[in-house]
Amino acid sequence: MSCSGIPHDVVIVGGGMVGAALAADLGQRGWRIGLVEAAPPQPIEPDSAYRLRVSALNRRAADYLDRLGAWHRIAATRACPYDRLGVWDGNGRARLTFHAEELRDGARYLGHIVENELVQGALWAALDACPTVVRYASRYASRLSPSPFGACIHLEDGRSLHGNLIVAADGAHSRLRQTAGIPLQVRDYRQSAVVAQVRTRTPQQQSITWQRFTAEGPQAFLPLVGPRASLVWYTTPDRARHLAELPAEQLREAFEAAFPAELGGLEAVEQRASFPIRAQHAHAYAGPGLVLVGDAAHTIHPLAGQGVNLGFRDAEALGRLLAEATARGQAPDDPTVLSAYARERRRDNQLMQSSMTAIRAGFESQRWPLPALRQCGLRLARHAGPAKRLALRYASEGPPLG
Ligand SMILES: Cc1cc2nc3c(=O)[nH]c(=O)nc-3n(C[C@H](O)[C@H](O)[C@H](O)COP(=O)(O)OP(=O)(O)OC[C@H]3O[C@@H](n4cnc5c(N)ncnc54)[C@H](O)[C@@H]3O)c2cc1C
Repeated sequence: MSCSGIPHDVVIVGGGMVGAALAADLGQRGWRIGLVEAAPPQPIEPDSAYRLRVSALNRRAADYLDRLGAWHRIAATRACPYDRLGVWDGNGRARLTFHAEELRDGARYLGHIVENELVQGALWAALDACPTVVRYASRYASRLSPSPFGACIHLEDGRSLHGNLIVAADGAHSRLRQTAGIPLQVRDYRQSAVVAQVRTRTPQQQSITWQRFTAEGPQAFLPLVGPRASLVWYTTPDRARHLAELPAEQLREAFEAAFPAELGGLEAVEQRASFPIRAQHAHAYAGPGLVLVGDAAHTIHPLAGQGVNLGFRDAEALGRLLAEATARGQAPDDPTVLSAYARERRRDNQLMQSSMTAIRAGFESQRWPLPALRQCGLRLARHAGPAKRLALRYASEGPPLG
């Protein structure tokens, strides 16, 4: 079927953090990009109200955002660095704290906590300097069968776009993935996360992010700039629904009662929402004329704070492989290029998903001999310098690039 849509080298559906990063990456290489986003980000200024959704960005993600010209905007607005990462189990007997200085590479931080919309907005601002990137504020509606000359998609506003390659960056519920008929492998944790943005009584815990594992699920503290934090309480879907509907004052009391003393006192709960937790992995990262990145390809349990960090690695790898392919004279939708991307990224993402499943099971299980084993394991890790440094490097940078 022929397509008379507006021509582009690559059409990216979804201008969230990952899709916008890929658009900036390819746009800065001079590629003609169409970026389709249903809900373009609202600008965030230093005095704007905080947005609820935040992410722990590791150092590699910050370096990538810096290369794309977005990090300086994030840093100039607000980003909370952390130099320690604390992990312990429900009774506090198995405890491990990672310090940035243990990396011995002069790093002052392990990562930063940043609002998702601020990251997205900074990437969109970086796109202003890319004249070959055209943004379409509309929703992807349907996709034509690919032809030998690329593929064509239709937008809800009636426009059609043609790309030599179409990228699905439209998140966990990716419509593009569904219309391409790519099935998912799903692990439902039967757990929900209550995410709350709170004002703390004291700002002294600002440079640490911590997680306590309980039989109910992990509890996490992510520091924000000033006396603020983002709290995540993993629990059963029923309890999460109940908590998310509590009046703010009762929810504040519930957090203080359930969370460990390290939380300190809470002044107020300002925003909250609950999210079902599922890990999913697309059976294929690519099809004819189509490739998947970010949450459209994979989601993992958010307890490790790795979801978008992995998505940035997808964007970085795809940008690099596409640039190398065109330098060799290959088309962007050449199946060997897309297979190389799929091979490289699936391995990485699968490894992180499996590690998360094992860590979560190891920490939450109360069944003998796991409580004893984890205490031994953490004690060992505390004293085994190289093993601890390896885990730390993995947390702050992710696995080495393939
Ligand atoms: C509770 C929780 C905590 C988390 N914490 C962390 C953390 O600390 N660190 C971390 O790395 N990750 C974290 N994550 C994961 C992280 O939020 C995701 O991995 C990340 O948002 C994925 O980015 P994305 O751009 O792939 O997808 P999304 O953020 O979902 O973006 C998709 C974009 O596509 C657009 N879109 C969707 N459909 C269409 C359509 N049909 N047409 C046009 N546009 C469309 C949407 O509007 C959106 O802008 C967490 C997740 C959860 C649930």
